[in-house]
Parts: sequence; C-alpha cells; structure tokens
Amino acid sequence: MSDCVFCSIINDDIPSHKVYEDENVVAFLDANPVSKGHTLVVPKTHVDNIHDASEMQYMWDALVEVSNALEKACDPEGINIAQNNGEAAGQEVFHLHFHVTPIYEGDELEIEYDRSELEDGESIAAAVKDNIA
Ligand code: 5GP
Ligand code: ZN
Repeated sequence: MSDCVFCSIINDDIPSHKVYEDENVVAFLDANPVSKGHTLVVPKTHVDNIHDASEMQYMWDALVEVSNALEKACDPEGINIAQNNGEAAGQEVFHLHFHVTPIYEGDELEIEYDRSELEDGESIAAAVKDNIA
C-alpha cells in the first residue's frame, strides 16, 4: 500500500534500523521506543491487523528469532510481546505488527487493566467456541 508507513519501510522508501529480514517478515527498531531494543515485527504482505492474518504462521518463528536476539543483545530482565488491533486497542499504524519490548530492572509497566471476577464464563466461552472456524 503506497500510503502505508510500514510498507514504505519494507520497501526501503523510508529509512529504518532493520534487525531481521526473511522472505516474509521484516523487523526494525521502533522510532519511539518504550525501552532499549523495542522492535516491531511486521509481515511483508500488507494486512491491517490480526483478523486478516490467518495465513501468516511464519510470524511466530520471526517473533521467537527476534526475542532470542534481543535477549542476547540487550540482556533484559524480561520481554513483553504486544499487538494492538483497532483504534480502541491502541492501534495507530494499520499494518499488522508485533511490539517486542525488552523490560529492564526498574522499568514501570504502564499496562493496567481494571480486572473483575469472571462472570458468565459458560455463555461467553460457548459464544466464542461457536465462532471458531
Ligand atoms: P501501534 O500503536 O499501531 O501498535 O504502534 C505503532 C508503532 O509504530 C509505534 O510504537 C510507533 O512508535 C511506531 N512507528 C510509527 N511510525 C514509525 C516509523 O516511521 N518508523 C518506525 N521505526 N516506527 C514507527
Ligand atoms: Zn503496509
């Protein structure tokens, strides 16, 4: 897609710091990192988000590869992997991507959900199961 910033990075039309590339996937440093080594793992095929990603099993291998490289290169205490779908979920770039974010000692995790006790588990699980393809 010509107006997609990640397609432009994949095609080297705009600069980035690439750390991994194979026939299906590119990974590059996030321009506004949450922490040192914050990397985006992106399929070369443009899809908006997870709902169009059913044929992209190769993403998993790339995520493991990049996570292992970050572990060795940056020696973090842990690694978060996050992936946002839709504006309400915080998605700003509508080309599927996974955030691989090293977490260092003293880092404050800002993700905070207001959790409650599970109710209606049976009907929720049934509704989801009914929609598994
Ligand atoms: P989202 O909120 O869509 O999950 O995350 C989009 C991410 O893309 C953000 O973390 C943002 O910093 C990153 N980003 C946006 N534009 C660029 C860019 O031109 N180059 C790079 N390397 N990262 C970008
Ligand atoms: Zn794109």
